[in-house]
Amino acid sequence: ADQLIRKSEKLSVAGQLAAGVAHEIRNPLTSIKGFIQLLQKETNNPLYTDVILSEIDRLEDIVQGFLSLAKPQAPQMKEIDGRLLLQQVILLFETQALLKNVQIVQEYSGNLPLIYCDGNQMKQVYMNVLQNAVEAMPNGGVIKIQVLWHSANSILFRFIDQGQGISKERIKNIGEPFFSTKEKGTGLGLMVSQKIVQEHGGTMGIDSIVNQGTTVDVILPMKPSLVT
Ligand code: ADP
Ligand code: MG
Repeated sequence: ADQLIRKSEKLSVAGQLAAGVAHEIRNPLTSIKGFIQLLQKETNNPLYTDVILSEIDRLEDIVQGFLSLAKPQAPQMKEIDGRLLLQQVILLFETQALLKNVQIVQEYSGNLPLIYCDGNQMKQVYMNVLQNAVEAMPNGGVIKIQVLWHSANSILFRFIDQGQGISKERIKNIGEPFFSTKEKGTGLGLMVSQKIVQEHGGTMGIDSIVNQGTTVDVILPMKPSLVT
């Protein structure tokens, strides 16, 4: 990849404060959501409650993104089958992909090695990358997932989409907090992903051609000793 996704920096005091606020916002948000869902059952104009619920979802995304940045869970490192991990994530995208005419193709065969990682965190990374790929292809298309190589020490996962791509000027901003070109984006997905991969001792890279598509590489070490 041409461009390494920028390293996530430690949150400033202001950032920590904001994360604290985010945490406090989460509980009332959950109860608001619950009551709106109840109201939705009683109203005969669900349009309003639909809008409210989708905006609440957005707030939850932002809050969640903030929290994973500021209060990382201690990683539960284990040896995990790389293929299984990917397949679980792909399964979660099945409905969405079908609806949007997107095909997810796994272009690797045979067994994948065991990867020493926190399974939930790594799933989060793959989900963020796949979500971006799907969102970049409003008219559908193919997402290819490749394992470009794996050695005794590390493995390279490549995600290729046929989406709108990212311009040269904008690709530098990728991974900055809140950098988003989407009306409803949080701009936290890649920053959180980059942070997780970095904590696993790996790297993330991105390459893109406008109107052709984007390639995201995730390189992970496979041995406990290599993870710092
Ligand atoms: P969000 O998806 O909420 O905007 P992300 O951190 O996931 O935040 O992505 C940041 C920005 O990077 C996106 O708004 C988009 O402009 C760009 N981007 C990321 N992945 C892709 C992709 N596969 N194709 C096109 N643009 C992408
Ligand atoms: Mg995203």
